[in-house]
Amino acid sequence: MVYFKMAKTAIKSLIHGPSTIRYPAEPAKQYPTSRGHVTIDPSKCISCGMCMRKCPADAICVRRDEKLWEIDLFKCHVCNCCVEVCPVHCLTMETEYRPAFAEHEGVQVVKITYVKPEKKAVKKPAEDKSEE
Ligand code: SF4
Ligand code: SF4
Repeated sequence: MVYFKMAKTAIKSLIHGPSTIRYPAEPAKQYPTSRGHVTIDPSKCISCGMCMRKCPADAICVRRDEKLWEIDLFKCHVCNCCVEVCPVHCLTMETEYRPAFAEHEGVQVVKITYVKPEKKAVKKPAEDKSEE
């Protein structure tokens, strides 16, 4: 019975081709919900550190004083948690898978370029002329 099942699968694969792809020689299929890798828009990041605190893999480090955002790609398991908690929506889960990279390329450091807008000067209410 087992041999019959195996032969059936082999014949099916010969006719229709294998169910697997030769990744990375052949690019992986992507869907709108595919989780490839996390990217940041550094011009929107307010350095709140929420992504760092919520990351279950301890893959993100926000160095507020140096205005740096770091991600360790070897630790990140693309759970999407950081993207969901970012209050200014500057993190995105790209559907594209990263190509293989060397160990020294594992930590990605991004310079945060967000500039806090200056507060508008509050006008003092005009003095009551009746008091004069
Ligand atoms: S996707 Fe998940 S594991 Fe990766 S950095 Fe974001 S929170 Fe951490
Ligand atoms: S990426 Fe988003 S959650 Fe992380 S520090 Fe910047 S603003 Fe905060």
